[in-house]
Amino acid sequence: MKLNQRGLLVVISGPSGVGKGTVRKALFDIPNHDLVYSVSMTTRPPRDGEVDGVDYYFVSKEEFLKRIEEDKFLEWAEFVGNYYGTPKDKVEEQLELGKEVVLEIEVEGALKLRKKVKDAVFIFIVPPGRQALYDRLLKRGTEAKEIIEARVKKADNEFLLAHKYDYIVVNDEVNNAADRIMAIIRAEHAKTERTIHNYLKMLEEKNG
Ligand code: 5GP
Repeated sequence: MKLNQRGLLVVISGPSGVGKGTVRKALFDIPNHDLVYSVSMTTRPPRDGEVDGVDYYFVSKEEFLKRIEEDKFLEWAEFVGNYYGTPKDKVEEQLELGKEVVLEIEVEGALKLRKKVKDAVFIFIVPPGRQALYDRLLKRGTEAKEIIEARVKKADNEFLLAHKYDYIVVNDEVNNAADRIMAIIRAEHAKTERTIHNYLKMLEEKNG
């Protein structure tokens, strides 16, 4: 019998520009894991090289609003002029299969989810300094100056919300940050409150 049957919902969050996406990709490159990435839905147009169904499901605003009405999202948020959301059914399906499901989402959606899902793990990624964040957004070069400025302003407010998370991980170096997240996931998985129920059941079966 597996001690943990239901998978763990892992929420990687933090301001735009902290490198959440890169850290998440490095996390999935670590061998021997049982992680599944939850592909989000967005109304933002694809950037060069982004693939529908891999990076995001790209949909129209009408389609997105319809899905909100139909309660199809686990969480959603409007972020700098576009909508982003986590499709509910896929996440539930994977958790039931015992997979660790990883979300990479912005702060507002993460905090909405925190109120709704009590047994998820919330990880806040921070840059080694404010300048690093600004540099990263500029270097990405995919957005207009006003959008970058809006994202930096939003990030400044979001840093104040770090205390609402379970863990803070500094993205000083991508692979280090990914290793720290993996360590958190493994430790969370072994937590007594997550395993004790099945452990006691296992003992009963042996004795019975
Ligand atoms: P980007 O446009 O740079 O891909 O994403 C903008 C922000 O939206 C990032 O902080 C990203 O993590 C976040 N994001 C991506 N998918 C979701 C989602 O499903 N829900 C929420 N709340 N935020 C998301």
